[in-house]
Amino acid sequence: ATTKKASPPQALKKEPSEPAIFIPVGRRPEIQEARLKLPVLAEEQVIMEAVRENTCIVLCGETGSGKTTQVPQFLYEAGYASGNGIIGITEPRRVAAVSMSHRVAKEMNLSTRVVSYQIRYEGNVTSDTKIKFMTDGVLLKEVQKDFLLQKYSAIIIDEAHERSVYTDILIGLLSRIAPLRKKKGRPMKLLVMSATLRIEDFTENRKLFPVEARQFPVTVHFNKRTPMEDYTGEAFHKICKIHRMLPPGGILVFLTGQAEVHSVCRRLRKAFPFRPRRAVTEEEEEPDTSEKTRQFKKAKQKKTVSLPRIDLDNYSALPVDEGDEDRLAGIDDEEEEGSDLDLEFGDDPGDSEEKTDPSLPLYVLPLYSLLAPEQQAKVFHPPPTGTRLCVVATNVAETSLTIPGVKYVVDCGRIKKRFYDRVTGVSSFKVTWTSQASANQRAGRAGRTEPGHCYRLYSSAVFGDFSEFSEAEITRRPVDDLVLQMKDLNIEKVVNFPFPTPPPGEALVSAEQLLVSLGALEEPPRTGRLKQLERARLSSPITPLGRAMASFPVAPRYAKMLALGKQQDCLPYVITLVAAMTVREIFEELDRPAGSEEENSKLAQKRARLAQMRRLWAGQGASLQLGDLMVMLGAVGACEFAGCTPKFSEDNGLRYKAMLEIRRLRGQLTTAVNAVCPEAGLFLDARMAPPTVSQVRYLRQIVLAGLGDHLARRVQAEELLDPKWRNGYKTPLLDEPVFIHPSSALFKTLPEFVVYQEVMETSKMYMRGICF
Ligand code: ADP
Ligand code: MG
Repeated sequence: ATTKKASPPQALKKEPSEPAIFIPVGRRPEIQEARLKLPVLAEEQVIMEAVRENTCIVLCGETGSGKTTQVPQFLYEAGYASGNGIIGITEPRRVAAVSMSHRVAKEMNLSTRVVSYQIRYEGNVTSDTKIKFMTDGVLLKEVQKDFLLQKYSAIIIDEAHERSVYTDILIGLLSRIAPLRKKKGRPMKLLVMSATLRIEDFTENRKLFPVEARQFPVTVHFNKRTPMEDYTGEAFHKICKIHRMLPPGGILVFLTGQAEVHSVCRRLRKAFPFRPRRAVTEEEEEPDTSEKTRQFKKAKQKKTVSLPRIDLDNYSALPVDEGDEDRLAGIDDEEEEGSDLDLEFGDDPGDSEEKTDPSLPLYVLPLYSLLAPEQQAKVFHPPPTGTRLCVVATNVAETSLTIPGVKYVVDCGRIKKRFYDRVTGVSSFKVTWTSQASANQRAGRAGRTEPGHCYRLYSSAVFGDFSEFSEAEITRRPVDDLVLQMKDLNIEKVVNFPFPTPPPGEALVSAEQLLVSLGALEEPPRTGRLKQLERARLSSPITPLGRAMASFPVAPRYAKMLALGKQQDCLPYVITLVAAMTVREIFEELDRPAGSEEENSKLAQKRARLAQMRRLWAGQGASLQLGDLMVMLGAVGACEFAGCTPKFSEDNGLRYKAMLEIRRLRGQLTTAVNAVCPEAGLFLDARMAPPTVSQVRYLRQIVLAGLGDHLARRVQAEELLDPKWRNGYKTPLLDEPVFIHPSSALFKTLPEFVVYQEVMETSKMYMRGICF
């Protein structure tokens, strides 16, 4: 019955008396066949029974067991979308929300009008939508509009193990909302799904529901020694070895960032060139398995341990590949990947293995979150016949996306994380060891379809020193946006909120202080002893300004700028600035490691061109005072005047994906501003004239209002006791000097006072986004 063709949705007549429609699912036979192999399918009845009998359940199942793609379908077929409510699924990553909605639509043979997605910038939700994939930030925004989430009859919080901040908050909120809905007679089901969980964080009052993991054994090979520096080189050699000596099967490589991924991809493509147009004959297609198997057996095997099956005692929380997706406030919009300007990695041009080996085509694909979606989607398609798939990925491949056909995993054991110093506000990206739980997840990727192998580029002793689990993101990053969102939900005592893992007390205190200083929260009474004051600080109610700020999908500092932008027709500029400041990496990364001579000269040309354009965009006269912010405005303006084409971006060192995001965010912020302040009557004119002198003055004031505590003063000659302070700036919070980056528009100007967007530590502490 499940294989019959579905009637297309438009063929269905809507009965006015019956608003709900149930479109039958008609899966294609090959889809149905593939589904039946997924472990969750065997559990459908048990899962649905648990859903019927409980308001909240937790569903645990190995990555790839079919949770994300199948459970929404179970709910749909059990009728959860046939009444007035729809089924919502949250994902911490944008990539997952988009690609999973497409996948589920395809599996169910339904249009994307019915199975849709909504992410920060875009979506294809319609009035017919029955299954809606969205990022966790999007749902949190919806809670603000309608606390009871009336339009949903079931909500699935997916990837709970990632411990993204919004997911954590949603679990806390929804486990209150779901029982409330039951009390009101319009029940809503809550399903929390995760690959692995530190169960005690999630299971209070909830039914835990493990799905039997069907995982083939994965043999784990440790390195004898642990390369401290050149792990990308080591990864490259390991891939070469696997490809030359081991039987067919895809290879998945875990590295830490975009630059590393590209460097390894380039070396692999050089070593094993793949020419798509060459016709491959049958003989060539058939690999010599017997010979390979012989070599495989001969291949020296290092210490092997078998991968522990993940069971309940082994539940763990996995690291967050943070900054990855649209955290609603934009705080995390800097991503680990792609921000590693100063990371060294070994590229050994004299490498003998880099000599071209034409007999073995390797189909090499990069995978990281800043990659264009069409490129990302390639990993799901089978590799061209006669080639071996090799995906070189960052942490995105660990749990959110399951790549088919992987038999070998190469794990560098590291992860790039954003570190944020709560006191000084300095962020830095550091590559650190991952956790045991995460290393086991990575290894597990090799055993999806048959027994596999995982090559760890570190020793078992090092593994023993890994922390067991990774920390929840909420304990590591600023929470001002979150506190504001919660105050807007009238949760005044944020400390009392049932966080799965509460953020540290001092983070909550400094968030309240910032929000009070921005005028978003009421000034606490200045009476009583210090302790009382501290407590009072944590329960300040929200102000009308705070409510307006909370309605903007950006961090409070930027929301404040938007709230002030009405003067002197500055709003379009403020919106553009805020969009540009919260979208990550608008300039292309041009400091790539050395490639071929041709590549290098092309890069050098681009760098020169970008430097020239930056000077142009920085403007003249008064505009110069806006510094890097004027460069951003100019870049966006120029790009829009040229029609925002990939070619313009490419030619001028701008990242096209970022430019598109800025355009969407500008549209979204314009709508949000109009909602708060309809008399502004704003409409988005993508192409705007440069600001006038008086507008520049207002813009500087507005920026200062949001970043008032990000002030730095140049060290004067007479204060220069230590040469390390040369050209350095003093800030109120840091003991060390901070600097203007050579790429900044103000590098040569060195103004006495500057305001910066943030301090990022790379080789030095550099301010980013500077104006004066
Ligand atoms: P889980 O959520 O438990 O990790 P998923 O539901 O994401 O599992 O995946 C189930 C299966 O569907 C996997 O085998 C995966 O490879 C496959 N799959 C997911 N997305 C796609 C896609 N876009 N194209 C083809 N197969 C896919
Ligand atoms: Mg999933």
